[in-house]
Amino acid sequence: MKRMKLDLNQFECFQCHACCRQEGYVRLGENEASKIARFLEMDILAFTDQYTELTIDRQALSLIEKADGACIFLTDTGCRINTVKPVQCRQFPFKWRFKNWYKICEWAIRQKENLTPGKAKK
Ligand code: SF4
Ligand code: SF4
Repeated sequence: MKRMKLDLNQFECFQCHACCRQEGYVRLGENEASKIARFLEMDILAFTDQYTELTIDRQALSLIEKADGACIFLTDTGCRINTVKPVQCRQFPFKWRFKNWYKICEWAIRQKENLTPGKAKK
């Protein structure tokens, strides 16, 4: 099957937050746990106890998920820790992405619609 070509130079996040509802780790990089804890006005140990888990490779902490699989910090109005969200979140979909990511990303879906033969580019 021919791979869809998306021009990420045109990327514009529509804030649909579908990527925050996907399975998988939201890994915390160096100092990110303390940065988020400070933002939430929490003690670092209380923050890691309440909001993180150890990744299976035991190399990092990851934010936990809600019962529905969404990130614990996803709210009805968006990311609760937006200003201090992990680098991993900021780098999607430029520096990393998962298989078939374009099927959930609103921007990519719209791009794909525009790339479908027979559909006029809006
Ligand atoms: S930290 Fe924020 S941006 Fe990152 S997955 Fe969670 S809700 Fe989404
Ligand atoms: S799925 Fe795509 S458009 Fe939606 S918030 Fe994530 S990056 Fe932005």
